[in-house]
Amino acid sequence: MLQKNSDSEQIKLIEPLEEESTNQVSTKPQDEKENGAKKQIEELTQKLQAWNRQYYELAQPEVSDEVYDACLITLKELEKQYPRLALPDSPTQKVGTKVASKFVKVNHQKKMLSLENVFGDQELEKWVNRLPEEAREFVCELKIDGVSISLVYDLKSQEESKKGKFARAVTRGDGLTGEDVTENVKTIKSIPQIISQEIPSLGDSFEVRGEIFMTYSNFQELASRENFANPRNATSGSLKLLDSKITAERNLSIFVYAVFFKDHSTASGSLFPGILDNSQTHFENLQKLESMNFTVNPNYRLCKSLDEVKSFCAEWNLKRKELDYPTDGVVIKVNSLRQQEELGETSKYPRWAVAYKFPAEEVETRIESIEIEVGRTGALTPVANVLPVQLAGSTVSRASLHNADQIQSLDVRIGDFVRIRKAGEIIPEIVEVVLDKRNPNSQPFEFPTKCPSCGTPVEKTEEEVAIRCSNVKGCPAQIQRKIEHWASKDAMNLKGLGESIIQQLLQKGLIVNIADLYQLTKDQLLSLEGFKDKSAENVLLAIQDSKKRSMERLIFGLGIKHIGLQAARLLAVRFHSLSQLANATTPEFTELDGIGDTMANEIVSCFADADMQFLTSQLEEVGVKTDFSDELRRSAEDEAMSKVLAGKIFVITGSFDRPRSEIEQMILRAGGKASSSVSKKTNYVLCGEDAGSKLTKAEELGVQIISLKEFLQML
Ligand code: NAD
Repeated sequence: MLQKNSDSEQIKLIEPLEEESTNQVSTKPQDEKENGAKKQIEELTQKLQAWNRQYYELAQPEVSDEVYDACLITLKELEKQYPRLALPDSPTQKVGTKVASKFVKVNHQKKMLSLENVFGDQELEKWVNRLPEEAREFVCELKIDGVSISLVYDLKSQEESKKGKFARAVTRGDGLTGEDVTENVKTIKSIPQIISQEIPSLGDSFEVRGEIFMTYSNFQELASRENFANPRNATSGSLKLLDSKITAERNLSIFVYAVFFKDHSTASGSLFPGILDNSQTHFENLQKLESMNFTVNPNYRLCKSLDEVKSFCAEWNLKRKELDYPTDGVVIKVNSLRQQEELGETSKYPRWAVAYKFPAEEVETRIESIEIEVGRTGALTPVANVLPVQLAGSTVSRASLHNADQIQSLDVRIGDFVRIRKAGEIIPEIVEVVLDKRNPNSQPFEFPTKCPSCGTPVEKTEEEVAIRCSNVKGCPAQIQRKIEHWASKDAMNLKGLGESIIQQLLQKGLIVNIADLYQLTKDQLLSLEGFKDKSAENVLLAIQDSKKRSMERLIFGLGIKHIGLQAARLLAVRFHSLSQLANATTPEFTELDGIGDTMANEIVSCFADADMQFLTSQLEEVGVKTDFSDELRRSAEDEAMSKVLAGKIFVITGSFDRPRSEIEQMILRAGGKASSSVSKKTNYVLCGEDAGSKLTKAEELGVQIISLKEFLQML
């Protein structure tokens, strides 16, 4: 079990790119931001191009797919913000890499494209919403993690014996030109060597596309002899062997997912998604391919709505683990072939299909640096800055190392490749170091002996794993974290008051403690970077609004060591004001189930501190609600009152010295019911002056008749 620092905070994920205002037209790189973006674009482009070569040409990726994907996303976002700065050979616009191999190069009859990725339901929904209504019927297929291939059949051979024969297999390459790997592909037994000529409208060229892959069982067997990181790399390596006998031993497999035919009616004779036997949809095409003895992955489904697509993705995210072949997502394709054609494609992707990537639960990335964060109670938490990576649906660039013991037991070093996973909701943690990839010159990490924020020598006690800075009152990092904690969602929820704003407020001397937040003025906020009229007003509103937060949030927000939300809740039930809490004794705390000695002592010593006493008095002065006894009394009274007339039915008749609605309210508050007609079920008729038929009816039925005075006495 991992032990974590007790006050370890929420680790920041990758910084989102700041949004450019849409009406800002950029010309030359004039400002620092644009220069920074230019440099970042160049670096990312270079990095991705180098990784592409490693991956596509050598089948030896340097980084994990998730690191690659995160990098590509960042580049895409930057190019979107600064289109002028995008480089012509950007990997966001290109399929694969140029072919540079010993195989014969072949131009594709129709470009082989990549697929746009979406991560998570929200992105999927956005993609679907961009499509015209008529196109929103889909076929969902598993995305097989292998190597894409084009299989061409010869339909126009003069020799009768060659007609319909499997003629050529070509890799995707850069989408335009691929490598002729026919001999190697012929070793895959499930590929039909000849197709039936009977299917009408095949024209003179028939091309099927699919994914060649290696099953996990074959991969396991191969991995004991050859050094491949995963089945995809093994497939890619096996397809590019010069000796097809060895390829045959590797037992590759294929699933096909598309068919194209040559359209004679157009001058160019270009290839279109095949309308096999007059089929109108991709779904029908898959069925026809099956009937022609091609192996189509059986797990495809027609989905008529976004919800059905989402369920398919969720279902296969679980079920894929039972499969003997690698899948890394779901491919969602517009079903109508006509709509596919109308939607067309970009230079890299078809617009009618998208790849929903399964969220990775554990991924590999590299440690770039290790930072030490000082928490609000002084604990030093090491955090690793890693190469940004896609993990469980988001981009992550930081991972927690929890404490010094953890660094030591994992022997994590800067530059190491590590596996990380999400622990709980958002904080990723390092699981292990990939020792095979360690740089032999790397050095063990030395934990600092002084607080990185204030320079105070750090301390460690026997009872705790955490190493702490003992400068509780003067350490700038601790002060800032305390204020951040007060502003956090579970505490006082001061929306808009984030880390960088609090930092600026402290640096400018506008605040010293949390009570000072309540004295801030609009002008002071406007003097900070990034504030406009509206945002300053919103922050001030959020601060004002927070004055009325509940007792438990108030206790939690004070950030007393060891007092989490749950303990704060227990304390709030027992103590109804901050002064009650501050004056309580250790035994009064420990008698609560869930509050132990350590917590109790911590609360007592915290409120005995002069600074805390000053802070609580300041909070009261600025109007933060610290006394909830009235409210509790009122709600207790309300509850008792609601039982007084529980289930009793009243009918009101005649006129009174106060509005009827008011009397009705009183009946309701006391748990009774006001009815308009008298029946045997009526318990009381509340009778005013000049009562009419209802009074008569009550008398007839023997219902009890009471005056307003008697009613008020009942209450
Ligand atoms: P891709 O592999 O993510 O998706 C496109 C491919 O999916 C298609 O070309 C097709 O071959 C395949 N596919 C599988 N099942 C399919 C189906 N049912 N229907 C249609 N197509 C199906 O795209 P890509 O352009 O080949 O590669 C990009 C991805 O490769 C990146 O997102 C990254 O994850 C990985 N990559 C990793 C590195 C690295 O260094 N680790 C480098 C380059 C690329």
